[in-house]
Amino acid sequence: MQFSEQGSKNDILYWSKRLYQKDMSPSTSGNISLKTPEGILITSSGVCLNDMNEDDIVLIDYDGNVINGTKKPSSEKIMHTEIYTKRDDINAIIHCHCPLITAFCVAQRPINKPILPDFALIYDEIPLIPYYCPSTIELAEAVGICFEKNNNVALLQNHGVVLGADTLQNAFYQIESLRAYVQTYFGAEVISSAKYLNKKQVAEIRQRYIKK
Ligand code: 13P
Ligand code: ZN
Repeated sequence: MQFSEQGSKNDILYWSKRLYQKDMSPSTSGNISLKTPEGILITSSGVCLNDMNEDDIVLIDYDGNVINGTKKPSSEKIMHTEIYTKRDDINAIIHCHCPLITAFCVAQRPINKPILPDFALIYDEIPLIPYYCPSTIELAEAVGICFEKNNNVALLQNHGVVLGADTLQNAFYQIESLRAYVQTYFGAEVISSAKYLNKKQVAEIRQRYIKK
């Protein structure tokens, strides 16, 4: 299929609005990128993901230099390029400060309780990366190391979450599922306490759904 920069920008605009409107990226927090044959399309710095237009999306190279566009690329651009450099299978990245997911980052706890089959099918644990100042090389390198170990999502201590996937649509669905998991977990804890699937139940779900 022929690559269209316009199509990729429309993709970013569409999923950015969905993310904001689902209350997963408040105010001007968060950033989104998409790998293209020409480089990486990334949201510009300081914009609200709901209110962008195509001029707010910038094309950068794998060192973070601007190839095309008039705006300043996201201050987390090196975090995105680190992930793409380490993982050929990742084509789209969402970083956001989803308040419900970020609550785990602030409680400084990884997400690792098998409360739902769809979570247990995919994850043992969503790791928590220790705190580094946002937008720094140190944060970008720590995220790169974490994704190199085959994690597709990581919590950033006292900051937010970053997730990579094959398409932007899948990245959105996966982060939306994670938000639903966290919301369900909190709800159960309020009612009484969350009860977990046991090892046998987790093994059963994996055996049934993971194709060998
Ligand atoms: P940008 O607006 O520069 O993309 O930064 C937002 C953010 O989430 C920083 O961590
Ligand atoms: Zn951030």
